Amino acid sequence: MEVMAGRMDRGFMQYQKEFEDKALEVLRSGWYILGKQLSDFEEQFAEYTHTKACAGVGNGLDALMIACRMLGIGPGDEVIVQGNTYIASVMGITMNGATPVFCEPGEDFQIDPSKVEALITPRTKAVMVVHLYGAVTDMDEICRICREHGLLLVEDCAQAHGATWKGKGIGSFGDAGCFSFYPSKNIGAFGDAGAIVSQDEALIRKVKIFRNYGSEKRYYNQMEGTNSRLDEMQAGLLQVRLRHAEEITRERRALASVYTEGIKNPKLLLPKVREGCDPVWHQYVVRCKERDALMEYLKERGIGSIIHYPIPPHLAECYERLGHKRGDYPITEHYADTVLSLPMYNGMTPEEQAYVIDALNRF
Ligand SMILES: *Cc1c(COP(=O)(O)O)cnc(C)c1O
Repeated sequence: MEVMAGRMDRGFMQYQKEFEDKALEVLRSGWYILGKQLSDFEEQFAEYTHTKACAGVGNGLDALMIACRMLGIGPGDEVIVQGNTYIASVMGITMNGATPVFCEPGEDFQIDPSKVEALITPRTKAVMVVHLYGAVTDMDEICRICREHGLLLVEDCAQAHGATWKGKGIGSFGDAGCFSFYPSKNIGAFGDAGAIVSQDEALIRKVKIFRNYGSEKRYYNQMEGTNSRLDEMQAGLLQVRLRHAEEITRERRALASVYTEGIKNPKLLLPKVREGCDPVWHQYVVRCKERDALMEYLKERGIGSIIHYPIPPHLAECYERLGHKRGDYPITEHYADTVLSLPMYNGMTPEEQAYVIDALNRF
């Protein structure tokens, strides 16, 4: 049997008719950028995230970069972010000329709130919390720290559409919640797409101006903006995905619990979930000392797996200028050396999952 680490065709097939109807509707509408599909989606997504307003943008990196920019994060500012994240979180900071300050993660792979305050300096402007793999850290603590120290809070929600902390949805805690709808995300488009949500309607209005060349009124450019618009086709198709968001999440939670019940191999450490967090399982990430051997073993049996992420941003070539070296963030580096994401996608069959579990238990 072949089991891919992730696949998007199954998720498409689950709602094929609705996607195809929507695609035809958009094609036949004669309107493809900044129209009703987008404004409807923005309204629906704000409602889904329990925020006041939403602005669609071109992708998740743009969401992070633009949110930071509109919040006034720039040169000379420091932003605290967890070390074990995808490079985009960090680029959202550095594209604005600000400096990332890395924080070690806890056992749940999320930023460790007990280590944040020691990193605060007079230059600290914000905390960027990344809801990695679809889970959530202790947001009460993160919000308390930001409030007490007067720091902005940016949430990187790219992997966690619908995840909650004590029943409250991610994206609604911070000054801005930044989402990616990259096709493989839990709520995925059929191309690049992203969004920013906020309780601050004025901020979202600024984002909408910035994303369209800094212009609200045609040919009147009030700020130096960019072109980062979420197109009508993606916005329309995302409405279909959003209608089924609860089912999509329920299915992933069921898959995760089958792994948790079924994997019985002392060589594998299963993911730990913090009490209070209800994750949406963008990835099901195990740890293994013999990770590379495990990956190879699975591959020989036709099972795909992925390392999220093999090189932590502080060791990335592009950030050599920050002057970090191996050993600076031992927990982050240990995770980079031991984590492995198991196959996880909507439409995964019980047979496929049983095959993966059986292989894992024989390793
Ligand atoms: C996918 C992802 C992004 C970036 O999203 P794109 O749409 O690919 O630009 C940012 N942060 C995290 C944590 C991600 O997983």
